[in-house]
Amino acid sequence: MCERNSKDYMKISHDDQTVKDISNLGEFGLITRIASASKPGIGVITGIGDDAAVTDVSPGMQLLTSTDMLLENVHFRRSWHDPYRLGRKSLAVSISDIAAMGGIPRWALMSLGIPADLSLEFIDEFTRGFLAMASEHGVALIGGDTCSSRGGLIISVTIMGEQYPQLVVRRSGAQPGDDIWVTGTLGDAAMGLRLLEQLPLHEGEGWGEGGSILISRLLDPSPRTAAAFALAETGMITAMIDISDGLLADFGHIAEQSAVGGTINLDAVPLSAGFRAASSYISEFPYNLAISGGEDYELCFTSPPSRREKIALLMKKCGIEATPVGIVTTSPEVCTRAADGTRCNQKNQGFNHFTR
Ligand code: ADP
Ligand code: MG
Repeated sequence: MCERNSKDYMKISHDDQTVKDISNLGEFGLITRIASASKPGIGVITGIGDDAAVTDVSPGMQLLTSTDMLLENVHFRRSWHDPYRLGRKSLAVSISDIAAMGGIPRWALMSLGIPADLSLEFIDEFTRGFLAMASEHGVALIGGDTCSSRGGLIISVTIMGEQYPQLVVRRSGAQPGDDIWVTGTLGDAAMGLRLLEQLPLHEGEGWGEGGSILISRLLDPSPRTAAAFALAETGMITAMIDISDGLLADFGHIAEQSAVGGTINLDAVPLSAGFRAASSYISEFPYNLAISGGEDYELCFTSPPSRREKIALLMKKCGIEATPVGIVTTSPEVCTRAADGTRCNQKNQGFNHFTR
C-alpha cells in the first residue's frame, strides 16, 4: 500500500519553472505534463500521444469497458474535496465498476473540462492523486481529452479491464434462495456527507477521529478489487454490483436484471462504530441512510447459502468483512424487514439524478 499523502509518492515534472498557470502552459503543455507523470502499463503498446492508444488484451480474455462523469457541484464540491483525493476518487469509482464485474482493471482515459479559475497546482495534485490510485490498482493512464469549461470542473474517466469470459460476473444471475451479501460497512459515505453539510453549524468543533473516517469514506473511497476478483475466481457467486447509489437501489438493479426480488434484514446491515456514533447528529432513522445513502463503493453480491462459510473465509483472507444481509426471493419486490419482523416494501430509494 502506498503512503497516501506522501508528496514524494509521485512527482510531476516541473521542467519549466516559469510556468505558473494553465493558460501559460496551454493545452498541449498540460497534456505533456500529465503524460510525463504517468507510467507504462501491462499490455500498453502505444499510450498517451498518438490519435488513439493501442493495447493488447491478454490471450483468452474479454475487454470490459465503463465510463463515469464527475461534475462540480453535482458529484463534488471544490470547497470540500481537496484535489489529491478528488483525483483518487475520479479513478476509484471506475475501478469499482470493473471490480464489480470480477474484472482486472488495466487501462484508463481521463478527460477534463477545466474552468478558467482552476490553478495549475490543482491539476498537478489532481493528477498525482489519480495516478497514485492507478498505481495501487495496476491501471495505466493511456489517454484522454483536455478542454476548457465555461461551467465548473468536468471530469470524465473511461476505464477498461479484462477477464476470462467464464469469470465475468453480471447483475443478472441471482437465484431465489441465494444469500444477499455486502462487504464492509454501509452508510459511512452518506453520513460523511451529512457531516460536511452540517459543518458550518458546528464550525470549530471538528468531528473527531470517527467523523474524519466517515468523511474520508466519502472523499477517498477504496474500490474492493481484491475481494471482487477473489469472489469471481471461485465461481461461488451468482451476481454482483458495486454499491454506488445505496444498497436498496443497487440490489434493486440485481433484482430487476435477475427477475427476482429480495428481503433485506435491517438489523443485519453492517454499520461502523463511527456511523453509530454520528447517528445522533441526524434526525432520520439511521438505517435509511445505511441502505439508501450512496458512494460507499462496497460490493453487493449473491450466492447460494451452501457457500456461506467458504465466502466468509475467503473475504477474511482478503482482509474484508462480508455480511449476509438478506435473501433473494421469487416475488419481484425488494423489501426490508426490521428486527421486530415488520416488513416494508421499498420503492427505489437510491440517488437518482433526475428525481427532484
Ligand atoms: P486529438 O486532437 O486527436 O483528440 P488530443 O490533442 O486531444 O488529440 O490528445 C493528444 C494525446 O493526448 C492523445 O493521445 C490523448 O489521448 C492524450 N490526452 C489528451 N488529454 C489527456 C488527459 N487529460 N489525460 C491523458 N491523456 C490525454
Ligand atoms: Mg482530443
